[in-house]
Amino acid sequence: MKAKHLLAIVAIALLATSCGTVPVTGRQQLNLVSDAEVLQSGLSAYSSFMKTATISSEKTQSEQVTRVGQKIAAATEKYLTENGLAADVKNYAWEFNLVKDDQVNAFCMPGGKIVVYEGLMKLVSCDDDLAVVLGHEVAHAVAKHSNERLSQQMLAEYGGQALSVLTSGKSYSTQQIAQTVYGLGANYAVVLPFSRKHESEADYIGLVLMSMAGYNPDYALNFWQKMSTSGGNKNVPEFMSTHPSDATRIADIQKNLPAVKSKFYVAPATTTTQTTSAKTKRKTTSNSTKSNKSSKQKT
Ligand SMILES: [Zn+2]
Repeated sequence: MKAKHLLAIVAIALLATSCGTVPVTGRQQLNLVSDAEVLQSGLSAYSSFMKTATISSEKTQSEQVTRVGQKIAAATEKYLTENGLAADVKNYAWEFNLVKDDQVNAFCMPGGKIVVYEGLMKLVSCDDDLAVVLGHEVAHAVAKHSNERLSQQMLAEYGGQALSVLTSGKSYSTQQIAQTVYGLGANYAVVLPFSRKHESEADYIGLVLMSMAGYNPDYALNFWQKMSTSGGNKNVPEFMSTHPSDATRIADIQKNLPAVKSKFYVAPATTTTQTTSAKTKRKTTSNSTKSNKSSKQKT
């Protein structure tokens, strides 16, 4: 009985010190595993995947994936730096790869390793469309969804034992659980689906990140509609299988769009002139007010 109590107290103490905060949404999350360990397990899963994958030979599309991805990554790092999370930036070594595969899919590994399948590119008609997908994937990385999933899996599988595992050298068990969580089965590497909660959160953060990178978030509505009518392979992880139902996703995006757009969307260069002239106008007005004031003071 006493031992049980002690264990409960240790558990509560450990959980209390293992909470993280998701950037952008501010949600509290359980992070039992160190960033370094998540990164290491993610990298090994990613390199296993890349060994089995064929890099796309579609040059223009590959370049598009890299271009849009890096732009979103840069905006993301800027956001993290400006919001007191500069230390997190070092966790990301972004890579955006297009692989030869007809599935309508994309996925992200911890550390910013993002893979897009050629099949998905059939639904992409411009950079803004692609930014919907890449914003969503970068969001999974930034929200540390893999860490949370590993942590939940550890608690589920090891329960109380996890405590002793976690407070000692963790590598062995983390590696084992990572194998399960990342779905590294016998022959091939796939990423098991995130939970619906994570998918909805990635949708929202994705909208914010693409907006900050200068991509119009209005494209998200149309893009997810295209995704839902494309049929989708139900065996495909990440993108189709546990994503919130299309109707819920589209309704959520519709609800969040106006606020996200007005707060985070940085319009591309063409509107800069207007902004500048508006600023100049305001400046002139305030100057004239000032000179009025000073002339008043003088008199
Ligand atoms: Zn997702």
